[in-house]
Amino acid sequence: VEELAAQLLREEGLEWKQIGGVGVGVPGTVRLPEGEVLFAPNLRWKNVPLLATLVGRFPVPVRLDNDAHVAALGEYWRGAARGMRSLIMLTLGTGVGSALLLDGTIWRGLNGVGSEMGHMTLEPDGPPCGCGQRGCLEALVAAPALIRRAKEMVLSGTASILASMENWGVPEIFAAARNNDPVGSAVVAALVKYLAAGLANLVVTVDPEMIVLGGGVAAGVSAFLEDLRSEVEKRVSSMAYAAPPIRVAALGGLAGILGGVYLVSRG
Ligand SMILES: [Zn+2]
Repeated sequence: VEELAAQLLREEGLEWKQIGGVGVGVPGTVRLPEGEVLFAPNLRWKNVPLLATLVGRFPVPVRLDNDAHVAALGEYWRGAARGMRSLIMLTLGTGVGSALLLDGTIWRGLNGVGSEMGHMTLEPDGPPCGCGQRGCLEALVAAPALIRRAKEMVLSGTASILASMENWGVPEIFAAARNNDPVGSAVVAALVKYLAAGLANLVVTVDPEMIVLGGGVAAGVSAFLEDLRSEVEKRVSSMAYAAPPIRVAALGGLAGILGGVYLVSRG
């Protein structure tokens, strides 16, 4: 990080005295104000004192938070969720990150770590999750789950365009689904079912003004947002709730970067 920052400054012809601070988003559970990464399963980190490691390496303040929190701040400040007083953001990628933003502030809870909605249990005996539990939302809808489900179907002989491809991943699964491919459609239908169940749990818990989906998988979900929203609506409408607008992050990969700027500018 230190070398990359120095390289960026050189490339842009800037000096540290022109820089307000360094904002960092990290894919793991972060305890603040210490800035300790308690657990980042996809980096295989446990109890890493990241903020303490970074402070002192830069002649400017360093601010650090969980990557989904930072992305949500970016979307709230400059993206799809401007002006929203209550916002849930899920980042769907290798894992599932989350943020609950209330009046522009990340909800941190008693332990200062915020939410980990990706690890809500949807199937108590479901597939194993990186967190050590089973049947978490993440284990059912993150990229590895989609690829595993598609591979199982292709290997079991279900006809699919994917079977004729040498290399395929999440974008190809979504493209196949848009063309009514049996495997692509089945994988996306399962994704919509589980994601809708998870979002419905969140709606009846928080009743947020908006839900924003970010991360690499969200781009593919954008073609199926209406299916997703109507599934959520089905689950919550018998009570006093309505499914809130569900948007795909407007800033894409910039959400985290602008969120980092927001973190620094807020001190
Ligand atoms: Zn989990």
